[in-house]
Amino acid sequence: MKRLFLLTALTLSSLVSSGCAKEDRPAHNYTVYIDPNFGDHTAEVMEALTTWEGAVAQYSATSPMSYPNNPAANLTFTTIIAYKYCNEWCKDIITIHPATAAIVQTMADDDGYGAENDIIGITFRKYVDDFVLGHWEFSNIYIADDLTGIFTFKTARHEIGHALGLMHKPIGIMTPEIPEQTPEITQEDVDQYFFLR
Ligand SMILES: [Zn+2]
Repeated sequence: MKRLFLLTALTLSSLVSSGCAKEDRPAHNYTVYIDPNFGDHTAEVMEALTTWEGAVAQYSATSPMSYPNNPAANLTFTTIIAYKYCNEWCKDIITIHPATAAIVQTMADDDGYGAENDIIGITFRKYVDDFVLGHWEFSNIYIADDLTGIFTFKTARHEIGHALGLMHKPIGIMTPEIPEQTPEITQEDVDQYFFLR
């Protein structure tokens, strides 16, 4: 069973608690650096990103979690094919890298959260809410792309969800078991996106 893993919500600084100010919420617009080493799988990563943009746009009008007075809440990714690894000075940036399944498993094992076996994707996300420096967030995603089939697309789609702040759910694409994922991003997935914003 191929699984996906999340390491998230590592707050660098929380000098102030998150209130309901929109500035304290995750972003709507991200710059995404796609590692050139994806090679032939680059298209699958790009498709995962555009699938997310499309789903958020599709459900924005009907999601009970969306802000009715915030039509600018649609999701947009600006993609750059270049290597980048984010540190704490990245603002609203997602980096996506290919790895072997063995390396991804090692990353999951080493994080101290007691990962299970067959981990094929992992997202390291940081959300910074600093009284002086303001709010920003960034994620480094690693995807096992040495597997046959369409795992790169499905893994990327799921891990991008984590980079957007989403947690695991029993249905939709945020279920951690790849075979149990729905074929498309669901209303519930998008509801979670809006709920966080
Ligand atoms: Zn996950």
